Amino acid sequence: MSPRMPGAPLNRRALIASAVPFGRTYQTRDEVDFVVVGSGAAGGVIARELSKAGFSVVVLEQGPYRKAADVSHDELEIAIQNALAGDDPQTFRTTAADEAAPLQGPFPPAFYAHTVGGSSAHFTANYWRFRPVDFDERSRLGAIPGASLADWPITYEELEPYYTRVDWEVGVSGAPGPNDPPRSRPYPHPPLPVKSSGVLFERGARAVGYQPYPAPMAIISEARPGRNACVHCGFCMGFMCEMNAKSSTLASMIPEAEATGKCEIRPECTAHRVDTDASGRVTQVVYFDKDGNEHAQKAKAVVLSANGAETPRLLFLSESSLFPQGLANGSGVVGKHLMFNGNGSVQALFEEPLNEFKSVQVTRVCTDWYESDPKRGFYGGGGMDGRQIFNSPILFALAGMPPDAPFRGPELRRFLSHNFTRSMMVATHSTSLPLETNTITLDEEVKDRFGRPVVRVTYKDHPDDLKMVDFLQTRAKEILEAAGAKRTWSFPAQEQNVGFHLLGTCRMGDDPSSSVVDRYHRTHEVPNLFICDGSSFVTSGRGQPTMTISALAFRAGEHIAEAAKKGDI
Ligand SMILES: Cc1cc2nc3c(=O)[nH]c(=O)nc-3n(C[C@H](O)[C@H](O)[C@H](O)COP(=O)(O)OP(=O)(O)OC[C@H]3O[C@@H](n4cnc5c(N)ncnc54)[C@H](O)[C@@H]3O)c2cc1C
Ligand code: SF4
Repeated sequence: MSPRMPGAPLNRRALIASAVPFGRTYQTRDEVDFVVVGSGAAGGVIARELSKAGFSVVVLEQGPYRKAADVSHDELEIAIQNALAGDDPQTFRTTAADEAAPLQGPFPPAFYAHTVGGSSAHFTANYWRFRPVDFDERSRLGAIPGASLADWPITYEELEPYYTRVDWEVGVSGAPGPNDPPRSRPYPHPPLPVKSSGVLFERGARAVGYQPYPAPMAIISEARPGRNACVHCGFCMGFMCEMNAKSSTLASMIPEAEATGKCEIRPECTAHRVDTDASGRVTQVVYFDKDGNEHAQKAKAVVLSANGAETPRLLFLSESSLFPQGLANGSGVVGKHLMFNGNGSVQALFEEPLNEFKSVQVTRVCTDWYESDPKRGFYGGGGMDGRQIFNSPILFALAGMPPDAPFRGPELRRFLSHNFTRSMMVATHSTSLPLETNTITLDEEVKDRFGRPVVRVTYKDHPDDLKMVDFLQTRAKEILEAAGAKRTWSFPAQEQNVGFHLLGTCRMGDDPSSSVVDRYHRTHEVPNLFICDGSSFVTSGRGQPTMTISALAFRAGEHIAEAAKKGDI
């Protein structure tokens, strides 16, 4: 089906589906089968899988339940003031020897959306599968000095059926690329129409001998029941999608969970402790409603899907005499091995208008550098895409102009009006090594509005991760020049203090002394407590983790439901 043209009627089923949630509610004193904390890329899938399997489910989500009518295209509010990110303070330090403090910039150090759907509701929607190498790189390469690189306890082959479920059930558009990992079914939707940045990226990459291909995106190019195809509005990265074209769990999984009549989404409810009984089993989740009143939801089992920053925080906040280092943290691994992924970019100006303010961010990618290559002299792998991150006027003026651009007055106005439509970039995405010293911990010095210690991020990139960013930026510059850019500019890789990808802080493994959850996401120490979200990762992949988060959630949901049916929880 073609996108809706201006003036044509909206898909009414989609609007109705997004406007009217099903009304199942439970009492806190009722013991439900599962409480799921968080409704993002993992939590939304888990809630759908468990409720479809017939279990009663309450999802506690700290953010509001935004409907189509609540979606804002206000650049200042969403892109600059980060209205979806909530206003909880967080602190940052580079090493444990430094003093942590809130960051001065626009983003908190662990950046994510507080909303039903989590960050899947506002993400860019690049949707790369991991490849076999991401799961067993420690065995292939051996130890990397200074890092805690480890193999996953599962393989790509084990996860492949769940990637395929994500493709078809969440909704992915794309076409096979060179060196793709094996897939058991084709993409359900054809690639999104190519943009100027995609045409130029493809032209430049081919000219210098690389193999670009259509971007795999969690955005639907064709309508599905209850959802419109993308209408290319351009308010995409960082914004929510009122067309339900972006395949967030809000658009795809949560309506199906609610339609079972077994799942209650309880928005604006912030979990602050998971309680256990004398035998160490979870009994209830204590939470604050939006007015700060405390409640406790009883449950037979709990799944934490609050993301790689908030899940470890909740485990620390749930410490008790039985679990003095934090719930499920006898190993001391909770909060460690935080990974952000490497990010770089080369920006460019072209002679002719490109009009990158339109449509989705990314339509062409290239992953020729996916594998770590010893010839480079350092560890790392990654890929890149053509796009313009600074595709709105204020963002372009603040961050998208070359360093020598005019600063004020008529020259600035002329520069902006001529170049805003003629700019693009190549963005690079790459590995972050796990380091035991990169952590999420509690900052007891700073409290949130409920009086809880806030997230403290301690992060310093491994030197190889920075070298990989510089390596990819050099390739990106070649591509832009071959595409005919009038000028290009970039900055050397810098140590990061903000993560959009929050990975690794409750890593999965077979050995309870070096991991937090087992291969099926059950915590090693608490039989009826499960964790599934970005925190379960053992390695970071090459920069687009969310498809793997949702695939893990399909797999976890299936195994948790099977165990519950057998009475094994
Ligand atoms: C601007 C942006 C662009 C991105 N683009 C991409 C991309 O192109 N490709 C990609 O792969 N990834 C991208 N990401 C990352 C992606 O969004 C995340 O990897 C993914 O959403 C993480 O899934 P999750 O389930 O681990 O956590 P989340 O999606 O963050 O969900 C966690 C949920 O738990 C809730 N929560 C947290 N604590 C509590 C609590 N105590 N009580 C109740 N609820 C709680 C949160 O409000 C949130 O809704 C992007 C992220 C951002 C911010
Ligand atoms: S560009 Fe497409 S997917 Fe992105 S917000 Fe607009 S309609 Fe939704």
